[in-house]
Amino acid sequence: MRRCLLVNYTAMRFSLRRCLLLLFLLAGVAASGFGSAYNARPKLVVIIVIDQFRGDYLERYRDQFGEGGFRLLLDHGAYFTDCNYDYANTRTAPGHATLFSGAYSDGHGIMANEWWDPQKKKMVTSVQDDATTIVGVASTGPGSSPHNLLADTLGDELKLASQGKARVFGVALKDRAAVLPAGFAGDGAYWIDPKTGAWITSTYYRRELPKWVADFNSSRIEKYWNQEWKDANGKVLRSTAPRKNKNGDPATFYEVVGSTPLANDYEFDFARELAENEKLGSGPATDLLVVSLSANDILGHQVGPDSPEMQAMVLATDKQLADFFTFVGHQVGGLANVWLALSADHGVAPLPSVAGALHIPAEGLGNEKLRVQINSALSAKLSPGRSVEFVRALDYPVAWLDQDAFTSLKISEEAAEHAAGEAMEQAGLRGYFTRTQLAKGAVPASELGQKYMHSYSPLGGWYVLGVPTPYTIGAASGTDHSSPYTYDTHVPLAFYGIPFQPGTYRTHSEPVDMAVTFASLLGINAPTHAVGRVLVEALLATHRADSSASPPAQTIPPRKHPDQIRPVSLVATQRSRP
Ligand SMILES: [Zn+2]
Repeated sequence: MRRCLLVNYTAMRFSLRRCLLLLFLLAGVAASGFGSAYNARPKLVVIIVIDQFRGDYLERYRDQFGEGGFRLLLDHGAYFTDCNYDYANTRTAPGHATLFSGAYSDGHGIMANEWWDPQKKKMVTSVQDDATTIVGVASTGPGSSPHNLLADTLGDELKLASQGKARVFGVALKDRAAVLPAGFAGDGAYWIDPKTGAWITSTYYRRELPKWVADFNSSRIEKYWNQEWKDANGKVLRSTAPRKNKNGDPATFYEVVGSTPLANDYEFDFARELAENEKLGSGPATDLLVVSLSANDILGHQVGPDSPEMQAMVLATDKQLADFFTFVGHQVGGLANVWLALSADHGVAPLPSVAGALHIPAEGLGNEKLRVQINSALSAKLSPGRSVEFVRALDYPVAWLDQDAFTSLKISEEAAEHAAGEAMEQAGLRGYFTRTQLAKGAVPASELGQKYMHSYSPLGGWYVLGVPTPYTIGAASGTDHSSPYTYDTHVPLAFYGIPFQPGTYRTHSEPVDMAVTFASLLGINAPTHAVGRVLVEALLATHRADSSASPPAQTIPPRKHPDQIRPVSLVATQRSRP
């Protein structure tokens, strides 16, 4: 256009016609390609998931954050202070599946990181797929894929709406945290080989690593070993010098580097390389990049949420986010072309010693000890004089049952799960929900019943979901997450980008709202099983009107279960964009 306007008067009429013709042609190409509705969409959506990041950290450390990291979202974005998972199974795989499907486990099917496979008669992971193999390192084990997902994801809907033109990638140290966000149609999911730290994928995505990944692996891993992690005062908190683990074997990259901020640097280093090599944000449709930061969880299990090391980790994450957001802006010609979101897959319980010091009852029970106790109670009742492994695995507070052990005694699933639940109560759990009960929807009409209903999946054979006593964990040392309580359910939810009205929102929100809000703004279908709502109160008036069938702007539409929504006033402290 600019050139057209610079021609002299005599040539103007001819040139204008040529320009208009060219514009029509371009518009025609765009429309026939994937729908012109994409013209106003961002070039790139970047979603940061922090593995184990409690919602209260943002307020706890807010005054210590620098510019451009968390505060880009807190001060210049739409920040939801009261976002909680409405289910009990607050683990990594369910959390990631929930964020990206906009559904809970009863919709997406991922209710645990691992479950008992009654056919294979062993525990399997949420993403392991025997039809695939690992790509990138020599491995005899199965590869990973989203094949267990029972719902599709935001990325899948983006792919469908753009007829495959959008590109979708997931990156994390853990396979489940990369694979589930990338959905079925993802172009790539990358995670690390725990031993060497090399970035790998599976044959679900491709037969060989792209050259840039192979180059990255051969040139970049080394620099993360033999480093020191120092806090703001220069005190050395951890070193990544090679060491032996507690079994006397050389500790892995995952063990040594994984629990330090260096692992987040490593992930962002890789994500930058991915964005550049895959030219994210330069295609004809909106691309989606999900980075899940695993180091926060690895450290958090060891030291708990209240340790100086966790504080140093959060502050390091803040700086790393600032650098990455700056990079993303450069990558796509300015942050105006990007929509960002931040959330987490779950929170975490305080260390039992920390809660105990405040006279709050808390305990690290020890999974194996508890399993032995539950099995001996079941054996005493069902097979007197004979010790039987009725519970094959206990991932507190979930018990995975060996159905063969029960069927050989002619005990039905319902009776087996009931007996196991009773034994779990005797061992100190506060209550239980059986798979049979959840499959029938036979739960009390209560907040807790609803949370357990949302935790149901048809996958995983026979199981019992125990209701833990608050502040009890299955780990004998360190801490854990996997309860329906706020310390595990409360996570950040914040957005940055042109459609959002900057402010702090204290309205009810859930992680399921993220994918639904993005889908609405992108003008695409929400994922198949989505139950979240469009967070209309955080959208600029022009975009509120965009979300079709929206109620008047200041009303929050009811969710499926209106009794769960607290009456709220819309508190939005208006802030400017930088
Ligand atoms: Zn964890």
